[in-house]
Amino acid sequence: MSAFRVSATDGAARAGVLATAHGEVPTPAFMPVGTKATIKGLHPERVRELGGSVVLANTYHLFFRPGIATIEELGGLHRFMGWDGPILTDSGGFQVFSLRHTIVRADGEGVTFRSVYDGAMARFTPELAADVQRRLGSDVAMCFDVCPAADAPREVHELAVQRTTAWAARQLAAPRAPGQLLFGIAQGGTDPGLRRRSVEEVVALGFDGHALGGLSVGEDREAMLDTVEWAAPLLPAGRARYFMGIGDPLGILDVVERGIDMFDCVLPTRLGRTGTALTWEGRLNLKNARFGRDGRPLDEGCPCAACERFSRAYVSHLVRQQELLGLILLSEHNVRFLLDLTAGARAAIERRELGSYRRAVLDRLGSGVAAGQEALG
Ligand SMILES: [Zn+2]
Repeated sequence: MSAFRVSATDGAARAGVLATAHGEVPTPAFMPVGTKATIKGLHPERVRELGGSVVLANTYHLFFRPGIATIEELGGLHRFMGWDGPILTDSGGFQVFSLRHTIVRADGEGVTFRSVYDGAMARFTPELAADVQRRLGSDVAMCFDVCPAADAPREVHELAVQRTTAWAARQLAAPRAPGQLLFGIAQGGTDPGLRRRSVEEVVALGFDGHALGGLSVGEDREAMLDTVEWAAPLLPAGRARYFMGIGDPLGILDVVERGIDMFDCVLPTRLGRTGTALTWEGRLNLKNARFGRDGRPLDEGCPCAACERFSRAYVSHLVRQQELLGLILLSEHNVRFLLDLTAGARAAIERRELGSYRRAVLDRLGSGVAAGQEALG
């Protein structure tokens, strides 16, 4: 039985529910990223209050710090990070291959590289990625894939597709945590032939869900969306579809419209830590002196605790004085903004009004920008 159920569709877009060992995830779902087993600046209770139903954690980073044995000994990742809801762990493939300068050798068996923490040699294989994620006890584990840069030569993408399939088959055969789902990842960049081949090979192996990997890694946005548009429908309709690494408001709607159910991005917390708010007026840089006496909330009408209680002037003061609370409030607000946008998309799909929802979002963001605010986000 599939862990995923589609409850409504609107064009290619779907609303659904992913059932995991630690609860259900209504989709489309934005997954806040907790790279090092924390959504930076946010208490897990607050993530829940903001509307987060699933969080992402990172095999690569947890492997080195604090180490998998430590987390396992302390009762697994849920207990360790104080989050009892669904967790998706990525396999470390993206980190290993995007930290290209650390790779010592990549071969058919796996990848040898130097840790970004202390330069120590390490080797990741599909079996290791399976074992680490089993011991972490995440609800959704990801396959260890080969993710080349968007502008890599075709033969590099071709080899990535070949190895990604071979590694997916090996990881599929490895033991998992009880109830743990395993998602396969398709590569192939924006090359139609390679992408199609990767999708078909990975789907044929039989995973609980599928990800389109190797997109949003520097390629042209049009080409990326075009690829999602034709590749997403090749994935089985009854399994969840995950787009790895998108989190700007328009990007979210773009991929949801093309049939994606889950996505993740560090954007809201990263922007929060640099003093920037995602709002319906576009991105606001709170370091800017013009907010110094602005008594309005970060975003009019936002129900988050930061907007309910504090003014832009106060948050701006905190940010300029490098007070921790400023970064926390901005991170909270930004995560809430994207979760609300995504929940709005889900509701719109259920009403079969995603197109008008999208137009309303664009209008609202566009008029804020036209009113003299900063770049559309
Ligand atoms: Zn807010």
